[in-house]
Amino acid sequence: MAPVRPGWLLAALLPAALGISVLTQARAQSGSGSTGASCSIPDQVRPLQLPSPATTAPTPTPPAPDGQDYRHLLRPTPAGWPVVAHWCVWIEPADAAAGTGEARRQADWLAAVDTALQQWSGLLSISRVSSPEQAQVRVWRRRPPLQRQADGRLRASHGRAVLTLVAALRQQQWWAEPRIDVLLGAGQAPLPLQATALHELGHAFGLWAHSDQAGDAMAAIPGGRPVLQLSRRDRATLLWLQGQSGRMPTPARPVETPATAPAPPKAPTAD
Ligand SMILES: [Zn+2]
Repeated sequence: MAPVRPGWLLAALLPAALGISVLTQARAQSGSGSTGASCSIPDQVRPLQLPSPATTAPTPTPPAPDGQDYRHLLRPTPAGWPVVAHWCVWIEPADAAAGTGEARRQADWLAAVDTALQQWSGLLSISRVSSPEQAQVRVWRRRPPLQRQADGRLRASHGRAVLTLVAALRQQQWWAEPRIDVLLGAGQAPLPLQATALHELGHAFGLWAHSDQAGDAMAAIPGGRPVLQLSRRDRATLLWLQGQSGRMPTPARPVETPATAPAPPKAPTAD
């Protein structure tokens, strides 16, 4: 078994204006619009019919001229860049009995996730929502399952993000939308936990890659101290991604079978 540390391994389901930050509580509404800042529950959600890979091989992005970001490490999905103009984020609420050790652990976990989310909400338009059905990003307080590596060894990690592409029906039209489940264990000390949350949320907001510099929140190999702030390169890469055409929602075709309700995932992903 691999040593337990917030290791980050990319096993991909993907193998891709700067919003003024808004952190608001959005009420559940139904059936309104595919774009804009609402966090409405779609009329239906189904697995997405992906175009055949042959027709969609993405052209690799050349590196930034000044090396000031890591855009060249990002890849779009066959249905476009898995990013939206406004993110609806659901975070698993605390449910432990007040005054217990578990209640304290859950409060520390929520504080770490909140602080990490604040970092990203400085760059993105984000709403916190009260039900997972409303959200593109769902943060679950559970440790990711062990993952078998290419060499057969089992690997443990403190965080993992799973990207699923769905077809969402809104106003009689199907749209390709990202759904990201972030698994985040509550076992780390507060600062390493905050760093893991910052990293996994980075994947969730579209940075499905690892940078090669230890000072970046999206670094593949963490440095000696937890990264609690987004680096200039993290920000520049996100800004580049926000400027790309082909961001979601994009017109979509659903698979015929109806999808299941949101639940903690089992699929391999990005750590
Ligand atoms: Zn990662």
